[in-house]
Amino acid sequence: MQKNIRNTDTDLEFENKIRPQELTEFNGQDKIIDNLTVFIKAALMRGESLDHVLLHGPPGLGKTTLANIICNEMGAQMKMTSGPVLDKPGDLAGLLTNLNKGDVLFIDEIHRLSPIVEEYLYSAMEDYKIDIMLDKGPSARSIQIKLNPFTLIGATTRSGLLTSPLRARFGIQCHLEYYDSKVLSNIVKRSAKILNIDIDDQAAMEVALRSRGTPRIANSLLRRVRDFAMVKGGGHVNLEITRYALNALNIDSRGLDQMDNKILTTIINKFNGGPVGLGTIATAVSEDSGTIEEVYEPFLIKEGFIKRTPRGREATELAYTHLGIVRPSEQNTLF
Ligand code: ADP
Repeated sequence: MQKNIRNTDTDLEFENKIRPQELTEFNGQDKIIDNLTVFIKAALMRGESLDHVLLHGPPGLGKTTLANIICNEMGAQMKMTSGPVLDKPGDLAGLLTNLNKGDVLFIDEIHRLSPIVEEYLYSAMEDYKIDIMLDKGPSARSIQIKLNPFTLIGATTRSGLLTSPLRARFGIQCHLEYYDSKVLSNIVKRSAKILNIDIDDQAAMEVALRSRGTPRIANSLLRRVRDFAMVKGGGHVNLEITRYALNALNIDSRGLDQMDNKILTTIINKFNGGPVGLGTIATAVSEDSGTIEEVYEPFLIKEGFIKRTPRGREATELAYTHLGIVRPSEQNTLF
């Protein structure tokens, strides 16, 4: 019997396939793109490497994509690493000494660098040199190594956790914002075209509206909707099958997923709408407090479902309306 083997693209392959490669292919974040276009052009005109760039914003908004694009536009090679991986100065020295003139070093999660590695980075960023300690004890001595001029691109979801000396060494700082639905629907249509998915404009807009303002979520919902369209429909993605698929995935009409709704119901039902501390919410919903702060909360705040007060997080009127829960104070006035 012939086995039915599914053609499974890994998430990474999928992301690479649809990742924009040039500034002109990057949708949205207009101000950032306009500015970067100027800075890159100027650096190329002077024949210099681009100033160091810090990209910050919630996950999935295009930081890695932008780093790749900057590298392509500069005609440079990129070495990628991440903060938690670089735990010894020797690891950093190895990477830095292997960079050619103009190359890009991309450090993801740069807020998680160890303090000692971070200190080595200062002189590398500022003067393109590092001092390395050789040997230990009485024979210890330091030698200075000159580096080729390079561009460091740091990405972080928690810019507040960066130390000020490190932050000050980035000449270009870009804060990526959540995308509006029009731009997201263009991203969905672009990805659909690359992946040969036949999708209606209305369906692309519906995916966009339910993607928490995030391209990575929009692209992954597109894949799931395509699955539903293939199995339950004729393969064509229209509004009806999109709504069916998104409901089956528990993504509600405002784009909130199960965890978003769990956070809101917990604040309202267990803590009378707040204020309640982040740690308490995290324990109550069994999620890491860092993840809530980085991933869930920024969108819930932006959309006006919760607010941050000095005493903790509070559910807003909109959260009650969205969940169809009547506020206790209003309940009293009803009787
Ligand atoms: P981050 O590094 O911020 O977590 P990524 O750069 O990995 O996010 O982006 C996640 C996915 O979203 C990628 O597959 C990328 O192709 C897509 N993407 C992000 N921003 C855009 C954009 N502006 N236009 C088109 N696709 C985008």
